[in-house]
Amino acid sequence: MSSRRSARTVRVYCASCGFYLYKYRKGGGGKLVKCFVDKIVQDNTEGDLRCPSCGQAFARETMVYGRPANKIIQGKVTVKR
Ligand SMILES: [Zn+2]
Repeated sequence: MSSRRSARTVRVYCASCGFYLYKYRKGGGGKLVKCFVDKIVQDNTEGDLRCPSCGQAFARETMVYGRPANKIIQGKVTVKR
């Protein structure tokens, strides 16, 4: 077997207006709780953790295992595969 299981990419949208916020390389299963900054593949925001379209805050800056991460505010984003 030469195939390696790679992390899948998910798309993160603003729950309020549907704006496409991030493309994110998510490891593991389950709900999206946080985004490691270095795993955001595409960032359509202005980096202030607010939706550029409607201004809704969707995450908070934090550190997880010494890495900068954006902690998602539950209910503020929609995640699609
Ligand atoms: Zn929005």
